Amino acid sequence: MRRRAFLRFGCAVPAAAATARAQAIDCREPLPAELARHELVAAAWEGLEAARVWDAHAHLIGTGDSGSGAYVDPRTESWLHPIERLRRKLILAAACVEEGDGIDAQYVERLRALADAMPQGFRMLLFAFDYAVGEDGRELPRQSTFYTPNAYAAAVARRYPQRFEWVASIHPYRDDALERLEQARALGARAVKWLPSAMAIDPASPRCDAFYARLAALRLPLVIHCGEEVAAPGARREAFNNPLRVRRALDAGVRVVIAHAATLGSARDLDAGGEDGPRVASFALFKRLFDDRAYQRLLYADLAAVFQRNRALDVQREILRRADWHPRLLHGADYPLPGMALIYSLDRFVEARWLTRQAADVLARIRAINPLLFEFVLKRTLADGGHRLSAAVFHTRDFFSSP
Ligand SMILES: [Zn+2]
Repeated sequence: MRRRAFLRFGCAVPAAAATARAQAIDCREPLPAELARHELVAAAWEGLEAARVWDAHAHLIGTGDSGSGAYVDPRTESWLHPIERLRRKLILAAACVEEGDGIDAQYVERLRALADAMPQGFRMLLFAFDYAVGEDGRELPRQSTFYTPNAYAAAVARRYPQRFEWVASIHPYRDDALERLEQARALGARAVKWLPSAMAIDPASPRCDAFYARLAALRLPLVIHCGEEVAAPGARREAFNNPLRVRRALDAGVRVVIAHAATLGSARDLDAGGEDGPRVASFALFKRLFDDRAYQRLLYADLAAVFQRNRALDVQREILRRADWHPRLLHGADYPLPGMALIYSLDRFVEARWLTRQAADVLARIRAINPLLFEFVLKRTLADGGHRLSAAVFHTRDFFSSP
């Protein structure tokens, strides 16, 4: 499974190289007025209050060359590790960062420029990213694809308060996890983010209980990645990304956001035979949880990466059509991924008649200059027989700022 996921990621490469020129991002150009004021963009903002639109899923990545303490697995620079190396190249290119000096600064500057091209009031939630941590509470840098300290995410958000909010990442097995949580809260964190497979966190473990109790007391949401992960393998504990493992947090009264609505990969149906249960789509397990009346007030999901080409059209259709879900779905672009040329296929949406050819052409031109705006306008525009994502999906501030 893991190997296949890697190969899939790797296979995109020759193809990416071939079409990269046609689809490359223009990192220097501002969006021409003709696109910035295009009726498709105007229509995307219609019915929305920009100040309530917070992009709820953006990654802050750095090498630490600014003294930020951020870390990227050094194997990503080595020819001995071609997949890791490739991953780094793709991610840096998507974020318009050139190898060499000032990687941290370039990353933030680009992010700020993209955010500044949005209407006033629009903000992004920047994710810190904790190390993998062992059962003994010790950090495992060798098993960590990257690391972004809470203090760094908080500092970037403080530097550009009109555009950025931040989300802490705290491994619950750390000895000082609760202290870190209080500290993050004091520094204005809007939520806590976990990527269980990469960080080696089992959300169903009693070891998380004290952390859950504190999160619930602080009313801080927990964003948990569920479903297959391709960009950050880290500790490689895929089974921990099972949506059903999130029940323990919900039962403790924690407000949970399932990142990506578990739209990728498969997992064991723990309700039908425990760890030996049949393998089913992670999304099927997500739906079981999401439709459970007991969790309606606590359980949310974000739509980061959900309209990328590696998600099934049927899954995407269900998300467009299930209007009853929309008040609990949160828009997020999964920056910097929208900057990767080949992970979106607009042709698929044109064939499905969710987009007109003209709209697809405009979106492709926006994507080549401002992938963040592209991802937002795409989600606002997709319509399956009149079914589209409602405004509630984009008014995410309501969720993150309500106590
Ligand atoms: Zn993400």
